[in-house]
Amino acid sequence: MNQNRPIRDIDTAKPTRHPAAPERDDPPIISLRKLRREFKAGEESIVALNDIDLNIARGEMVAIVGASGSGKSTLMNVLGCLDQGFSGEYRFDGRDIRKFGIDELAELRREHFGFIFQRYQLLADLDAVENVELPAIYSGIKGGDRHHRARELLTRLGLGDRMTHRPNAMSGGQQQRVSIARAMMNGGEVIFADEPTGALDSHTGAELIELLHQLNREGHTIIVVTHEKALAESLPRQIEILDGNIVADTRTADSMQAAPPAAPPARLKRNWALFDGFTRTMQAFAIAMRAMMSHKLRTFLTMLGIIIGIASVVSVVGLGQGSQEQVLSRINSLGTNTINVFSGQGFRDRGGPRVETLTPADAKAIAQLNVADSVTPRVSSSGTALYRNISASVSMNGVADQYFRVSGLTFVAGMSFDAESVDTLAQEVVIDTTTRDTFFTNGEDPLGEVLLIGKLPLRIIGVVESNSSSFGPNANQLSIYAPYTTVMSRVLGQTFLNNITVRVKDDASMSAAETEIKNLLLARHGSEDFTLMNTDTIRETIESTTQTLTLFISMIALISLIVGGIGVMNIMLVSVTERTREIGVRLAIGARRGDIMRQFLIEAVMVCVVGGGIGVGLSLCISLLVPMLVSGLSVPFSAVTVGLAFASSTLIGIVFGFMPARSAARLDPVEALAFE
Ligand code: ADP
Ligand code: MG
Repeated sequence: MNQNRPIRDIDTAKPTRHPAAPERDDPPIISLRKLRREFKAGEESIVALNDIDLNIARGEMVAIVGASGSGKSTLMNVLGCLDQGFSGEYRFDGRDIRKFGIDELAELRREHFGFIFQRYQLLADLDAVENVELPAIYSGIKGGDRHHRARELLTRLGLGDRMTHRPNAMSGGQQQRVSIARAMMNGGEVIFADEPTGALDSHTGAELIELLHQLNREGHTIIVVTHEKALAESLPRQIEILDGNIVADTRTADSMQAAPPAAPPARLKRNWALFDGFTRTMQAFAIAMRAMMSHKLRTFLTMLGIIIGIASVVSVVGLGQGSQEQVLSRINSLGTNTINVFSGQGFRDRGGPRVETLTPADAKAIAQLNVADSVTPRVSSSGTALYRNISASVSMNGVADQYFRVSGLTFVAGMSFDAESVDTLAQEVVIDTTTRDTFFTNGEDPLGEVLLIGKLPLRIIGVVESNSSSFGPNANQLSIYAPYTTVMSRVLGQTFLNNITVRVKDDASMSAAETEIKNLLLARHGSEDFTLMNTDTIRETIESTTQTLTLFISMIALISLIVGGIGVMNIMLVSVTERTREIGVRLAIGARRGDIMRQFLIEAVMVCVVGGGIGVGLSLCISLLVPMLVSGLSVPFSAVTVGLAFASSTLIGIVFGFMPARSAARLDPVEALAFE
């Protein structure tokens, strides 16, 4: 860089001089009294600073010089308010630093200090302009002003053509100038430089020192730590430390004419207080986004737990609802207010000798009861039906004439047989649409045609809609309905029924009806060789069973969500460790703990929410696929479920991101900056 190039006045933000201010008698900007800093090392404690007294005036340029390990960096960290573990007195601009809270110290660093580090400490993911803007983001400077000033500073420092370069695309000298621009971003009333030339070649180092001289001439107070005697001697004042003690404090003659004190820098335009929180949150979003994009595979694998968890919860809940609705609709097709009487005692008699005690006479007796509205006896069997040269196996239902009304089957053609057909064992049959489509492939009218069941001819008198909700093994079953009397005596040659469906009168109570039917049949049969089933009880059983099942599977899915959350926490902890130095830089330039906390919390929440979104998308695919694979089964996909999925993934992000975010926010800036 050209040392003679004049530094243009770029705006009002840089310090300006007080023309009338007195020359050295003003109160010091930095004042230390008996300042002591000890480090605990096991049992012993190392005294890094031993009761130091020191005054530095506004506008001075000071070298702190000494051998390695003498305490220079420790002094610098105390002066820069990065280290609070000292005893004694430190006043900045007359204010007692020990009375400052953590966020007040951050504010002091942000608004009054600038730091230049030996290793530049630029953030690798940000370009030059973004690195320079950083302190102003935490100060709430408006985006436009911020951007404008960062570009001006970079141009002024000869980096006009490096604005969008990332640090690793710049030389050491260029990076160090970027860090000087960053130190000046918020005014940089006091600039601390710890071994600023340590990583530079001698020529670049000399240029850098000249730049610091120029800044000092403009009124910046500059404190440079160095172990190089020659460099120190080129500065107007040298403070030499040895083993934590100031052993020499020399001013060269011209230091007495050093720059007069500078006024605090004028301020750039700021965001409104309310809007500022929002802006900083948006910034945190951008940072989180960058962090996620820079480790795409890792981010995706971290999300996987959340994706699977959310997708399974949403799908299971949907499937549970869908199958329950389906089963319930089938039960509703049995009609409400109905009680089914089956022969045999529950499952106990299944497979044993058939119980043959339920008879049409029982049905008649039940029909006599006051509570009974209608009674439909039923026998069922399967057989082979033949029409012309087509034969197929059918499910044969022997029913009474009210059956169609009670079970809600709708006629698409013809009509039902009547009571007389039942009494006269009429050879009439009602077929369903599936049967019609099987036998009458050319769309002929089936009415009046004759179907052969075994050797028995039955005339088709009606066609009913197939029970469309059938699924599983019964899906494409052909069903035909004939008078039960016909089926019993002409087809099966049996005298007993399989079941009796009783429709209870609307004003009668179901339980009373059940008791009456039970007592009646007990009296007639002498033993309980039958089972009563009430559709309400079946419905309740099914509802509670699906609920239990859904709850159970949801618990498992929830566990997978928690495991996913732990995965997120784990990766966030890794990420915090990886970015320890970045956190140190942010804290040093004045980020509040809340800013760091917010940054990592938002990152965790974003990982979870994006994972949750993918999970919801996945379960949407499932809900579209399932009805194609299983006919009649639909998976409801409600906005409530989606909302809950996003809410729970946000919650997981907050819960599992909290610990890593807090550990990031609690980092000590000095230790974080030194982290390897
Ligand atoms: P310099 O910067 O002059 O090389 P430092 O200020 O880094 O020296 O260190 C001064 C003394 O304090 C050294 O003896 C060093 O070992 C000790 N010291 C510095 N930081 C720590 C720490 N975090 N824990 C323990 N000892 C420390
Ligand atoms: Mg050091």
